[in-house]
Amino acid sequence: MKLSARSCASIFAVAALSTIGLLGQAQGSRSPKQIALTEDGFPYVRGEYLVKVRSSAALERLLDNQFETAGAVSRKVPVLNSKSGTWYKINLADDHKLRDAILSARESADVIYAEPNYIYHTTSQNEKNIPMPGKGGKGGPDYKEAPTLPVPPVADPQISGMYGLSKIGAQQAWQITSGSSKVLVADIDTGVDYNHQDLINNMWRNPAEVAGDGIDNDANGYIDDIVGWDFRDKDARPFDDNSHGSHTSGTIAATGGNGIGVSGVAQQASIMALRFLGGSQGSGSLEDAIKAIDYATENGAQIMSNSWGGGGYSQAMFDAISRANDKGILFVAAAGNSGTDNDSKPQYPASYQLPNVLTVAATDSADKLASFSCYGVKAVHLAAPGVKILSTTPGDKYASLSGTSMAAPHVTGAAVLLKTAYPKMKAKELKAVLMDSVEQLGALEGKVSTGGRLNISKAFAISKAMFGESESGN
Ligand code: CA
Ligand code: CA
Repeated sequence: MKLSARSCASIFAVAALSTIGLLGQAQGSRSPKQIALTEDGFPYVRGEYLVKVRSSAALERLLDNQFETAGAVSRKVPVLNSKSGTWYKINLADDHKLRDAILSARESADVIYAEPNYIYHTTSQNEKNIPMPGKGGKGGPDYKEAPTLPVPPVADPQISGMYGLSKIGAQQAWQITSGSSKVLVADIDTGVDYNHQDLINNMWRNPAEVAGDGIDNDANGYIDDIVGWDFRDKDARPFDDNSHGSHTSGTIAATGGNGIGVSGVAQQASIMALRFLGGSQGSGSLEDAIKAIDYATENGAQIMSNSWGGGGYSQAMFDAISRANDKGILFVAAAGNSGTDNDSKPQYPASYQLPNVLTVAATDSADKLASFSCYGVKAVHLAAPGVKILSTTPGDKYASLSGTSMAAPHVTGAAVLLKTAYPKMKAKELKAVLMDSVEQLGALEGKVSTGGRLNISKAFAISKAMFGESESGN
């Protein structure tokens, strides 16, 4: 068999998928995909796999071969093109043939990689209890115009309940900078209530796109993409039907000083809403995750926030995050909520060993590691507040949620502040500064590689020593 070392590490290498059980239907409102489990317990979309081939002729040869080994191939869709080949999504009529199809594909000299279309989930604990207003028709509601902000700023009434901000020294950091709309941060999640009173001012507005004219003005392959894109439902309105994505966005950058609700770690930013997860389960596919990551990479995001996980090792996702790394984009990832050691039981994307991946565990208001939080003295880098975190939810509402999903956006928000003050900092420097400046905690010793919890105030002190005075204050 022609397999690289990485392929061998993945789930099909030996005899996985010998038993595939039907779990049930995904709960998505308009994406009713059936879910199956690999033998290793990783959910994937039934009958679907992704394959990277050397040429289109190679694909035709593969499909001829698959017709014999795996029965009818119902559909093939190019997922993405990269310099080294094209990924295609193959749909098999019979899911029971999927294992044989992937194994035979891997034996072909034409095939670079083949892997199941894994399913990922949000990494929070309790958002299912939050009542949802719904998407309001196809794609979500119309974009509202952002209100004028008060000058001078007016305090956010609910900020006293946000212990996470004080723990990480956000208020002290705001003396240097409170963020900037120049920093473009992609929240790859369940979408965002882009009309929320505390988020609307900090949503990205694609400057090269004209809303609602049905034309792809900036020729990026997406029509009318104003605040981002909905990869799950394939439309220009990535509205949050779950509450998770609005909550993570609010922790990154709910509008600070507008006299309303809460404040993000960054009080100003431009949030690019990239929805690939959704439904009450907050789930989405590998295919859509890769498209979302590539969109962020190709459309100017400087930081990506990823509060989700699942699946096995995916070369397609590794490659997508590598492309972000090549552009100096920081990829913040939640460590996972199974309370296990990521060093022995890797979680993805948290466990991809790439220079731009920064993985975050969750602590509580007493600075203890949350009982649900994954850890890993090698694979998890630092912790941040992630228990009972107050933030924004759809319909101008607010709620407290727990999860490493809530910890990661604290780190993302801190990266936004650093990037505001030091625009030239790339992923490598942002990651180094955020790791070097943690507050050491006994509870995190031997649990995360730095042994500490995020402290943005200290991160600014280190940055000043390393890079000099900040370039832009406020
Ligand atoms: Ca466009
Ligand atoms: Ca506010």
